[in-house]
Formats: sequence, C-alpha cells, structure tokens
Amino acid sequence: MASSKNCFYAKKLTDVFYQIKTISELTITGGCTSFTEKELPDKSLSVRDIQELKLIDKHERYIDFGSAVTLSEIEDLGDANLPPTIYAAISNIANPNIRNIATIGGNICSRDFYCTLYASLLALDARLEFQNAEESVFKNFMRFDSIPKETLLTKIRIPIEEWEVVVFKKLGPDNMLNELSASFVFLANSLKNQVSDLRIAFAGSFRYRDIELENKLIGAHLPLSEATVSSFIADAKASFDKATKDTNLNPILRQQFQNLVKYSLEQLT
Ligand SMILES: Cc1cc2nc3c(=O)[nH]c(=O)nc-3n(C[C@H](O)[C@H](O)[C@H](O)COP(=O)(O)OP(=O)(O)OC[C@H]3O[C@@H](n4cnc5c(N)ncnc54)[C@H](O)[C@@H]3O)c2cc1C
Repeated sequence: MASSKNCFYAKKLTDVFYQIKTISELTITGGCTSFTEKELPDKSLSVRDIQELKLIDKHERYIDFGSAVTLSEIEDLGDANLPPTIYAAISNIANPNIRNIATIGGNICSRDFYCTLYASLLALDARLEFQNAEESVFKNFMRFDSIPKETLLTKIRIPIEEWEVVVFKKLGPDNMLNELSASFVFLANSLKNQVSDLRIAFAGSFRYRDIELENKLIGAHLPLSEATVSSFIADAKASFDKATKDTNLNPILRQQFQNLVKYSLEQLT
C-alpha cells in the first residue's frame, strides 16, 4: 500500500517559514529517531540539513549549538570541551548509530517525555532560542514548556562553568527509554569552605527542579555535618513528593531520587 506520509526537507531557514505558511499541519522534525513508522506525522519537515542550524560556537562562558547538530557531533567534541554532565548525558543516549542521526533539538522537543539531556540543561540554566517567521526569542530553560505553533527551536546556549561536584545518572534501561527512564543531575560549588552554588534536577515522565530547596544548602559549612545532610535529605524528599503528588511516578524512581541526593551530598562531606 502506498504510504500517505509526506516528508519534506529544508536547506534554509527561510524555506522552513515558507513551508510552514503554505503547508497546513506541518510537523518540524530533526532526525526522526523518536518516531516509529506508524507514528511519523502525515506531513513532516526535517530541519536536519539546514547549515544555519548546524553551528557549534564556543565562547568563554557558554557554548551555542544549532538545533540540528547531531548528538554524535556534540559527543565528538570530547568531555574536555563540554560541561561534564552534558557529555555524560549525550554518551548515554541510545547507541552510536542513533546518535549519528538524532539531533539535540529533537532530544529537547520530544513529545510526552523529558529525554536524557533534559535534566542537565535544566540544572545548567541553559537558554533556548526559538524562531518563527516574525521574530526570534530566547527563553530560559526553566521557563520552557512547549513550542508555540509555527515556531522552531533554533539554538541551545549552554553555560560553561566549572563545577567541583558533578553527578549525572541515567536511570532505567540502557540504550532506550521507558517509564522507568529518568536522568538525575547534581552540581555543587564551594567558596571558602561553604557551599556557594547547588543545582539538583530530575527529568523523565515529569521534570523537577526546586530552587528554594537548593538555596537551603547555600552557605552550609563543608564538610557537611550529619545533621545538615539528614535535614536536607528530608527537605528534598518532601519537595520531590510535593512536586510529584499528581503524577503516577513509579515508586522505584522516587526511591532512586532520594538515594542519589544522599549519594551526591556524601561527595560534599
Ligand atoms: C532504540 C532507541 C533508543 C533511544 N534511546 C534514547 C535514550 O537513551 N535517551 C533519549 O533521550 N532518547 C532516546 N531515544 C529517542 C530519540 O532517539 C532521541 O531523543 C533523539 O535525540 C531525538 O532526536 P531526533 O532529531 O531524532 O528528533 P525527532 O524524532 O526528529 O523529533 C523529536 C521531537 O522533537 C520535535 N522537533 C525536532 N526538532 C525540532 C526543532 N528544531 N524545533 C521544534 N521541534 C522539533 C519533533 O516534532 C518531535 O516532536 C531512543 C530512540 C531509539 C529508537
């Protein structure tokens, strides 16, 4: 039977906006690795070959990636040239064949699930650039919810900072995603033996970051006392339970979150 799916390809950003205007119900795609054949939208436009979206631009304080940069192109930069949690997340996604095709934009814009890179970008306060025919806007990752209609993700700006403690953990099965999949990230810095910055992020079937919780540990003296660790773990559990109360999060993931917070704090003692 002839396929009713129409896959379009764009070579330039201006072509994308033209096609969005002229073809109704067009879905922007990257490498299409997140779709089975059945799930593929009836009309899709791949931005994977657009040179403007393939830039990698490293600055002193941040690195910009065009949304069509593939995961393997990022991985090839090596862990010395990337924030460690980004490198760890990318090299844990799927397998090398898929990473050759899959784009960073597709990983961020996934439907119904926060993919493996998400927690790292959330913890690092990445910024996202979106464009439509009229304008381009930058949004903080924390504020990113969904992509407005007729708009595409064009750039991802990732801050480059040194972190003394970096914990990244991909939970669930290797090389694939299911309901037990999630990513956990913990980052910490100190100044004069006190915690000066702390980030905790978790993403999978839902996303979690609580700045109020993070602030509770800022200023704590290092090494952390047992009382400080216990009290923070209790606060983290309460915050996570509150954030997930309306979700049907698997209890295994809830327990794994607590274990990982404990493990991460032990790196500070
Ligand atoms: C065997 C297998 C294992 C996998 N394992 C993992 C894993 O371990 N971790 C993981 O995170 N993922 C995994 N995936 C899912 C997927 O491969 C990745 O998430 C990948 O990064 C998606 O990128 P893509 O370019 O193929 O996106 P696509 O499939 O093309 O698109 C994904 C979504 O993003 C939207 N989109 C894409 N680009 C843009 C853009 N520029 N602007 C607006 N919207 C856009 C699309 O409309 C779609 O909704 C796996 C997939 C397979 C088949």
